Amino acid sequence: MPTRHLRPELHRSSRTGWLRASVLGANDGILSTGALLLGVAGAGASRSALLTAGVAGLTAGAMSMGIGEYVSVSTQSDTERADRAKEEEELADDPEAETAELRNIYEARGLPRDLAQQVADTLMATDPLGAHLRDELGLTETLAARPMQAAASSLASFAVGAAIPLLVAVLVPAAGRAVAIAAATIVGVVLLGATGAALGGADRWRGALRVGVGGTAALALTYGIGLLFGTAVS
Ligand SMILES: [Zn+2]
Repeated sequence: MPTRHLRPELHRSSRTGWLRASVLGANDGILSTGALLLGVAGAGASRSALLTAGVAGLTAGAMSMGIGEYVSVSTQSDTERADRAKEEEELADDPEAETAELRNIYEARGLPRDLAQQVADTLMATDPLGAHLRDELGLTETLAARPMQAAASSLASFAVGAAIPLLVAVLVPAAGRAVAIAAATIVGVVLLGATGAALGGADRWRGALRVGVGGTAALALTYGIGLLFGTAVS
């Protein structure tokens, strides 16, 4: 079906990138805080101990996500800036070699040599830096790294996700608390898994199943460890 490629709405990867990152952040927040609270509840903690543990877990996780994202995106941004500077220098130093470089790239992608030369000459006359950044290095303006924005959205999405099991832990009475925390956490990660898969254009049931199974295993393990530890120390 060659006509499919003419429909721009099928190319989801670049535009929904930040949205998918937020879904993943919220997923981390729900699962890690849900597991933390379930582990503490398994050890027989009181409501106030759960609240303390949950707020500490939410804060620590959100900060760690934000800082981690800031460092990773900054590094990417530094690399991009260095690549751009190097390319500018090469274009100024040896435009002939840079034209040949572009021609070889287009030839390798399947254009006949004379057409590749024509494309290279035209782009060298109109937008040499843009052509090199895009076709030689794979950098585009839309992918340009923004560290603060990435950090803020990771931090916020983790906190929003973490708030769900925390609210459940504080609001539900002791008798049903562990079950309610586990249920809210699993429903949350399954819904987010399906949303993340749908945003990426992938099968949403497979996405939901994957994260549902992984999440259930994580909760069961943490609860089991909490139970053992609670028995051991009390
Ligand atoms: Zn170049």
